[in-house]
Amino acid sequence: ELLGVSKEFTVRTADTGRARLSAVDGVSLTVRSGRTLGVVGESGCGKSTLARVIVGLHRAAGGEMIFDGAQVAVSSPHRKASNRMQMVFQDPSSALNPRITIGDSIAFPLRVQRWTRRDTERRVTEVIKDVGLPPAYANSYPHQLSGGQRQRVNIARALAVKPSLIVLDEAVSALDKSIQAQVLNLLTDLQDEYGLTYVFISHDLNVVEYISDDVLVMYLGQAVEQAPAAALYAEPLHPYTQLLLSSIPELDPTRSSRRQPLDLQQAREKGDGELPSPIDPPTGCRFRTRCPFAMDICAQRRPQPVESRPGHQVACHLYASQASNDKATPQSLE
Ligand code: SF4
Repeated sequence: ELLGVSKEFTVRTADTGRARLSAVDGVSLTVRSGRTLGVVGESGCGKSTLARVIVGLHRAAGGEMIFDGAQVAVSSPHRKASNRMQMVFQDPSSALNPRITIGDSIAFPLRVQRWTRRDTERRVTEVIKDVGLPPAYANSYPHQLSGGQRQRVNIARALAVKPSLIVLDEAVSALDKSIQAQVLNLLTDLQDEYGLTYVFISHDLNVVEYISDDVLVMYLGQAVEQAPAAALYAEPLHPYTQLLLSSIPELDPTRSSRRQPLDLQQAREKGDGELPSPIDPPTGCRFRTRCPFAMDICAQRRPQPVESRPGHQVACHLYASQASNDKATPQSLE
């Protein structure tokens, strides 16, 4: 569980020289153990930064994280990436050292942990088999494998240290569709077998729908909606989620009418506008410059999350009155 996690970067700008970029701003989320949380949003919405904060590759500016029942100091300068949390990146080639064998790549984190030679060899063979590759591939080099096979190796390397959480950042985006399906099926098989928890970050809404139990939607560094995947895709509440889902090809025509925003045409015209800069984001609701339903209050106050339906949280002033009627209290999504 993440509570109000933020991350800023200092960036150079043409006019003022330096500026603070709010990449992740007060994001809270819950990942159920043994399940998959999909994280979606346009490029630049902060989802990859969030991924790195979770596994400890970035230090957060503030916020809390509860993992396996214990508090993790996400903003500590001394925080080290935990073996219980591993990450798989988008590009299967650049994540592997071309000069060392697949077996040595997978063994590296085990050697860091001072596993014995025998146990390391045994574990490498085990995880290579787990990801559906022949054990003999341990002696191959990355260039001898296809893109899909290299991504299997990256998954094997993440698995080697027996993590409970794997963050997958655009992990199938660089693969052909048919290979994507194989890797997604592999991930679900591994999850079933080892009880793994995934945070699956992707811009591909169809892939996220396929693999996720729950989905978090991010816009300009903030979480705007979190819900069980089926509920979110069938009936998105936040205007941004509605816009996002209306732009993907509908594979199931029977559902198309349920994805439409109140005024899709208007929403598209306004929503197709440029993503504002995270250096100087809009006041109040960050989506207001593209939202067809923006009201005066949207410029003045950041919408607080409300649980509009059981397990379905949305941060939008359109639902605030419903929340006060229901006496709902703001939930963890901020
Ligand atoms: Fe649109 Fe206002 Fe809701 Fe933001 S808070 S999504 S601007 S209606």
